[in-house]
Amino acid sequence: MDGIVFSIEEFSIYDGPGIHTTVFLKGCPMRCRWCHNPEGQRPEPEIVRSPNGCLHCGACERLAEKTGERLGYTEESRLACPNGLLRRCGERWTVDALTARVLKCAPLLENGGVTFSGGEPLAQPEFLLACLDRLRGKLHTAVQTSGFAPAEVFDEVLQKADLFLFDLKLIDAEAHERWTGQNNAPILRNFRALAQSGVPYIPRVPLIPGVTDTEENLRAVASLLQEHGAKSVELLPYHRTAGGKYAMVGRVYDIKTPRLIQFNDSSAGFAA
Ligand code: SF4
Repeated sequence: MDGIVFSIEEFSIYDGPGIHTTVFLKGCPMRCRWCHNPEGQRPEPEIVRSPNGCLHCGACERLAEKTGERLGYTEESRLACPNGLLRRCGERWTVDALTARVLKCAPLLENGGVTFSGGEPLAQPEFLLACLDRLRGKLHTAVQTSGFAPAEVFDEVLQKADLFLFDLKLIDAEAHERWTGQNNAPILRNFRALAQSGVPYIPRVPLIPGVTDTEENLRAVASLLQEHGAKSVELLPYHRTAGGKYAMVGRVYDIKTPRLIQFNDSSAGFAA
């Protein structure tokens, strides 16, 4: 059994209580237009380009494959870059290798644990479940999720993880589909299942100016949380640099709302 991982971050303090090793699984069925990990969206390994140090010689682009708006860098692009700025993103890991790697740091993770993030970790359900099984009783496990998954997958993971970090973005169905590309009915269903299960969870709301941080949306989120007796909520600030990674994957960062433009214009460092 193996899965595709695009990053492993050690000593994270943002992905659950205490110190965590965070494993980022590649692939996500959503396309949130503010996503700050676009390299985690496609399920398969891909070649990405670092934006720093580019000579603008165009060698990588000449050897890339264009699909619609997206430039897909190829192995030939990677080899052609004189500054070595292209790299493979996404590696196959077996359950044995990944859990052994995580457990190597177990003594340092006693007050934290391991968090499976992404991408969307529920998009690789067999791999995620096998890893959770293997780590059970050895390390505290958390799953950071958008909640977008079939009910049967969610319910199975619900029985195996110790903690959920559950993103709630937009409650209005039409707005959710417009900004994320997916219907929020499965997310709301899974959130309710989680809230009723007794498994600890932390709801998280990304504050995207003019999109998710409107009074109407925040009131709707608050009402859902109140209905289910949620004890706390984490508000995730929008990062001015969120668009900077899109060039890495040959895409254009196209999220524009009047509030976001205003927000980004106030930062000289914004790199969309
Ligand atoms: S090949 Fe390297 S240096 Fe040339 S444009 Fe591409 S990333 Fe920049």
